[in-house]
Amino acid sequence: MNTVTPFHFKGFNFYVKRDELIHPQLSGNKYYKLYSLLNTPTNTYHTIISYGGSQSNAMLAIAYLCQQKGWAFEYICKPLPQHLKEKPTGNLKAALALNMHLIESSDYAAHIQTLQSHGKTLVIPQGGADPLAQAGIAQLGNEIKQWQAKQNIAQLNIITPSGTGTTAFYLAQAAPQCQVITTALVGDNTYLKQQMQQLGNIPNNLTLLEPSKKYHFAKPYPEFLHIYTELKQAGITFDLLYAPKMWLSLLVHMQDIEGEVLYVHSGGLTGNATMLARYT
Ligand SMILES: *Cc1c(COP(=O)(O)O)cnc(C)c1O
Repeated sequence: MNTVTPFHFKGFNFYVKRDELIHPQLSGNKYYKLYSLLNTPTNTYHTIISYGGSQSNAMLAIAYLCQQKGWAFEYICKPLPQHLKEKPTGNLKAALALNMHLIESSDYAAHIQTLQSHGKTLVIPQGGADPLAQAGIAQLGNEIKQWQAKQNIAQLNIITPSGTGTTAFYLAQAAPQCQVITTALVGDNTYLKQQMQQLGNIPNNLTLLEPSKKYHFAKPYPEFLHIYTELKQAGITFDLLYAPKMWLSLLVHMQDIEGEVLYVHSGGLTGNATMLARYT
């Protein structure tokens, strides 16, 4: 899967790698982060354990992976609000339909401390922030390299928003010929750098843009909905959690960026319905 489309937006020319089109439930960077598990023999594991938010994109991606592989999937989250418990929506509803076993933990932080991979049980840290993602993101880097060579692009900037920073980190490692540009969605740049340093030394072709304003993760900001709508009208639907801040930061810095710009679409469209509902 290596579809790249030209994208004209606000007077600038971009390319977008359309990884949201890979599969409705396992797409974008989650497809690449889970790539090595997708290609792992089925009998290697019988249970996958992970944890995090109850509408997480990674949660749904792992649920789909496990269903394909015939692996049990246990997911630990903080206690759900009553309305969600009674009537699951969005990614949660979809993951439960794929047989995910949800464990609401009243002592969440202590609970996840106790988790450990053992035998045929594998623990995937929140958001798939794990060296396990490296091989798949290297594959993503190869696809970009091939495309870049075919297009004869000498100078390429790759844009990808960061949650855990796993994708940006391994992509910068895998594509040393490019600049990888990201922005932090969870916490500030200092926090993101700390997260990345757990994976290794931060590559020097990786740039973290400074945000013009402090945003809290997953809050419905009007300017996020606004740029989401503008992007959609220009022809591509992006996710409402990560992409809006990335695009806003990118547009501020476009004047200073030399060479071509490739935005890697990281999927996450299944979460849009529940995010859109919060704007009404
Ligand atoms: C998960 C996700 C990200 C963040 O990826 P990290 O590797 O955790 O930095 C970005 N965009 C979308 C749409 C995602 O689903």
